[in-house]
Amino acid sequence: MKKLVYAFQEGSKEMKPLLGGKGANLAEMKKIGLPVPPGFTITTEACNDYYKHDKVIVPDLEASIFDYLNKLEEETGKGFGLVENPLLVSVRSGSVISMPGMMDTVLNLGLNEETVVGLAELTENPRFAYDSYRRFIQMFSDVVLGIHKFEFDRIMDKLKVKYKLSNDTDLTVDHLKELIEIYKTHVEKQIRRPFPSEPKDQMMLTIRAVFDSWNNPRAIIYRDINDIPNNLGTAVNIQSMVFGNMGETSGTGVAFTRNPSTGEKKLFGEFLLNAQGEDVVAGIRTPNEINEMGNLLPDVYDEFVSVTEILEKHYRDMQDIEFTIEKKELFLLQTRTGKRTAKAAITMAVDMVNEGLVEKETAIMRIEPEQIDQLLHPTFDRKALAEASVIAKGLPASPGAATGKVFFTSEKVAEAKENGIKAILVRTETSPEDIEGMVTSEGILTSRGGMTSHAAVVARGMGKCCVAGCGEVRVEEYNKQFKVGNRIFKEGDYISLDGNTGKVYEGEIPTQEVKLSGSFKDIMEWADEYRTLVVRANADNPRDAKVAVKFGAEGIGLCRTEHMFFDEERITSVREMIISKDIDQRQAALDKLLPFQREDFVGIFEEMNGRPVTIRLLDPPLHEFLPHSDEDIRSLGKELNMDYAELKAIVEELKEFNPMLGHRGCRLAITFPEIYKMQTRAIFEAIAICAYEKDIPVDPEIMIPLVGHEKELEILTHLVKVTAEEVREEKRVVVNYKVGTMIEVPRAALVADDIAKHAEFFSFGTNDLTQMTLGFSRDDSGKFIGEYRNKEIFEKDPFERLDQKGVGSLMKIAIERGRMTRPEIKLGICGEHGGEPSSIDFCHRIGLQYVSCSPYRVPIARLAAAQAAIRNK
Ligand code: PEP
Ligand code: MG
Repeated sequence: MKKLVYAFQEGSKEMKPLLGGKGANLAEMKKIGLPVPPGFTITTEACNDYYKHDKVIVPDLEASIFDYLNKLEEETGKGFGLVENPLLVSVRSGSVISMPGMMDTVLNLGLNEETVVGLAELTENPRFAYDSYRRFIQMFSDVVLGIHKFEFDRIMDKLKVKYKLSNDTDLTVDHLKELIEIYKTHVEKQIRRPFPSEPKDQMMLTIRAVFDSWNNPRAIIYRDINDIPNNLGTAVNIQSMVFGNMGETSGTGVAFTRNPSTGEKKLFGEFLLNAQGEDVVAGIRTPNEINEMGNLLPDVYDEFVSVTEILEKHYRDMQDIEFTIEKKELFLLQTRTGKRTAKAAITMAVDMVNEGLVEKETAIMRIEPEQIDQLLHPTFDRKALAEASVIAKGLPASPGAATGKVFFTSEKVAEAKENGIKAILVRTETSPEDIEGMVTSEGILTSRGGMTSHAAVVARGMGKCCVAGCGEVRVEEYNKQFKVGNRIFKEGDYISLDGNTGKVYEGEIPTQEVKLSGSFKDIMEWADEYRTLVVRANADNPRDAKVAVKFGAEGIGLCRTEHMFFDEERITSVREMIISKDIDQRQAALDKLLPFQREDFVGIFEEMNGRPVTIRLLDPPLHEFLPHSDEDIRSLGKELNMDYAELKAIVEELKEFNPMLGHRGCRLAITFPEIYKMQTRAIFEAIAICAYEKDIPVDPEIMIPLVGHEKELEILTHLVKVTAEEVREEKRVVVNYKVGTMIEVPRAALVADDIAKHAEFFSFGTNDLTQMTLGFSRDDSGKFIGEYRNKEIFEKDPFERLDQKGVGSLMKIAIERGRMTRPEIKLGICGEHGGEPSSIDFCHRIGLQYVSCSPYRVPIARLAAAQAAIRNK
């Protein structure tokens, strides 16, 4: 029989896939001699079996659980359900990859009408015993019986009003007894049977509920966002309770060995005296800063500090630790590698290398490439910020700058996002149900809760700006408004949040660009030492080129020339060119465009200063440049001195059923060679200007899109070369240049040996290659891709993450066949996938020389490329 239960002393941190993160780390802490209350772990395999057996806990597993429960009774000298000396346990979920707050926990399990009396006598603290019991009923009912926690809060509030009490701690034993009775009656009414009192039943029901919580909607969403596989399952940890709510020498807290927002090497955390775990995390009472423990319980604090140091050295990483103090005795309830902001991740990684704690490679591997996206986006414009007015200040829970309209529910935020509106989620406090609104918001503002409240922890993990515990803000969710003093902010009003200072501003504040400096610069330079892939950027104008270079791009891998055509000054000439009736008319329009294109190229060459620039000749279907509404057609008609009906007829004629498979790419130039001729001339004239007037080195690569047949490329390469030669003659300028093609039509990949005869380089256009290989339209696949992901046909949208098996195979074929003809052929990628870490890893493995991505993703690509090199050493 498979072993499905492990005592803590039987495990270790290496057993995480089986024991889950929490169980494995509890075992590890036990192993290195730290104070951990005894317990055992039901494995993730048991959870997966449960699902395999249609949600039945098989008798073997149940027997094994009770066997370990007996051992736990022996170890603690207590008895489960034993009145004289009752064993109480916590039952907590523990997934392999931590999913904070997403799954369920029940504390104080084992209490009932009888054992509570025993506990009261044993501890000589009836208040504590009854308080624990009422907490248990509340938690168990919420997690296992599905009765919402707030219903119990409301009952308690009513009782407090009845006895005119202001704090929970003012409730006496008699009040608590009365409360417990009301709770039980409430439960019985809801579930039409009494609250379960037999401890063994309580336990089995809770284990089942924890297994079930693996598939609750918020856990599913969390896994989806964080790319956590759905088949890992959760472990269940059963641990004998220690009590932080036994008076003023007891307490509970959460601490990080370094600051998870900034990375600063300083213990960071919060604790509460006379409280149980959920009080700190739920943000119900505002906790104290961890260092205050030094004044209140100095000996315990010293011990705690040294334990945190041991843990960080042992794990060689920042730890997030949960602890409880029971009558001055310290217990550790959890340690895990702490979630951190991108800024903190980088600061810590660099510091730890400098401290000699980890190697550079480890530091590089530790940073999640996607996460540094947070650092690459604009912050508030400093001047505008200085002029903006602060309306309130809360805790700087997760850094960043956010500006948007206020909404009070997760649904409203998500809806706003769908409509392209930037939204700020404002809540009293968030709960795991708010996950979707948190993801889709620009930032989060809460009026309650501390730095380790749900909002704070989850926002930091997502890299979302968050101001928490902003007490001045009174949220009236039901009125769709919040008040600060006597001011009222309604749904739809603009506010701005500064996650670095905790300040809340009224109105919209413009943002500004970031720069690479300090630890960020260090880690990027280390990444450059390891990576072998070159990183280029997709940039269409000098402004983007400048950003790209600032972020470390080594060239431009794709300059889409059509974007230049949309400029206000030129669009009319572009349209004139498209609707011209004969070649002379077309040439006249192209002649007007040439100087503009030339200037664009000069600007880009200047910014790139000798780095390679791949310029792609015109690609999109012509109708994209034409007006579509009658009104616009009419006004263009006037501008071009053309009859409305005639123009309308041309627009109609150019319409295509499937323009992405239509008259576009190199097909345009096969039919209208003058277009590419003009573009080529503009490029070479720009080169001449750079050479003679500006003394700027250039390294141009001319790229022909959408080639599927070698003849297409043969004809167009010839055209480019002849035109280049003409300009060379005229301007007497000699430059080296390359002509190559995109591989984005499946046929091109299959006949790459032929194509390579005419191409000095291949750049994989994986946007089109994905579209055509899968037969999914780039523009319309959104309609069904969600369902494809839900059904796990694709783990991710194949337009975001390369379909390695399908599209990737075509790439491999193209490389192999291309090299047969031209062994030294230069290879790169310029589809969106060039900035996606797992696709970059693939590009590294199949032997591409460079990836090209959007300028803001260049640092992500540099890091991902370094990780690929390290991973595939
Ligand atoms: C591609 O198809 O991958 C590509 C880069 O070109 P575009 O996205 O402009 O079609
Ligand atoms: Mg394309």
